[in-house]
Amino acid sequence: MKKEKKEIINKIGRFVEPYRVVRGKKFRLGDFDPGDTGGLGSDRKPLAGELLVQGVRWLAEEQVKLYAQDRHSLLLVFQAMDAAGKDSTIRHVMSGVNPQGCQVFSFKQPSMEELDHDYLWRYHARLPERGRIGIFNRSYYEEALVVRVHRELLERQRIPPDLVTRDIWKQRLEDIAGFERYLARQGTTVLKFFLNLSRKEQKARFLERLDRPEKNWKFSSADVSERKHWDGYMEAYEDAIRRTAGRDAPWYVVPADNKWFTRLVVVAAVVDALRRLDLSYPEVGEARKKELVRARRALMGERG
Ligand code: ATP
Ligand code: MG
Repeated sequence: MKKEKKEIINKIGRFVEPYRVVRGKKFRLGDFDPGDTGGLGSDRKPLAGELLVQGVRWLAEEQVKLYAQDRHSLLLVFQAMDAAGKDSTIRHVMSGVNPQGCQVFSFKQPSMEELDHDYLWRYHARLPERGRIGIFNRSYYEEALVVRVHRELLERQRIPPDLVTRDIWKQRLEDIAGFERYLARQGTTVLKFFLNLSRKEQKARFLERLDRPEKNWKFSSADVSERKHWDGYMEAYEDAIRRTAGRDAPWYVVPADNKWFTRLVVVAAVVDALRRLDLSYPEVGEARKKELVRARRALMGERG
């Protein structure tokens, strides 16, 4: 690997480790501070910006190899409370990537057709193809988050009543962990990001949406009433992470009160995951080399 590439990895690597959760059983959400900036004061924002740019450039280069190899795929799952910055993080982190190698899906309330299937159906259908980076803006985790907090959503799924027991969330999370293990065995690397926003900062961002006319369109009264369920969501998130974080399926609990830092951690985590894949361009075998020589000759022999 080129020296400057190694340097980027060394510089941003330290912003990943503190937020990576691989041992679910030990996880406590309270141990993670949404306002954490990894020791960088706000005067270091320009440095963070510079590292972000370098990381994005690195990502773009590696993505070409991922695509050329056509073997691995990467699934980035984004989960968060409203106004945590999912959209803008996705936009920044993927800004240098060739759109052809990248697929973004936002999951909203399921349609009637989707409700008629098992709950993983719609997510499975949108997994990234080999060689691609897939992004889930909300994901199958909602099936144990919003559906857990709002029980009426579970009713709509029309599951036979005897299967709806006290263990249903534990079972769902087991199935999700199994689904992710299956994906890992197929060559899909799954990274899960929880953008960890504080209740206080969410309020400040909602107020900003009300105060600034160009942000009014983002405001939703439903989001404000959802704040009543904050504790329920936090418990559901904690349980989901505890039951599904593992070596091959890490969660990243990313501090989200400062957007500039959120982006840096996410890009650092993606860079780190791609580095582990140790990608390279496909080998050119002897037969292929000969074919390339013939093609060159044919082109050179053309008139004009
Ligand atoms: P933004 O608000 O930034 O546009 P968003 O992801 O919040 O992004 P919305 O259209 O506001 O998008 O909301 C989507 C809604 O769909 C959320 O309230 C979410 O809880 C809900 N939702 C997502 N997945 C499911 C699901 N599986 N079952 C029920 N509701 C879901
Ligand atoms: Mg929303």
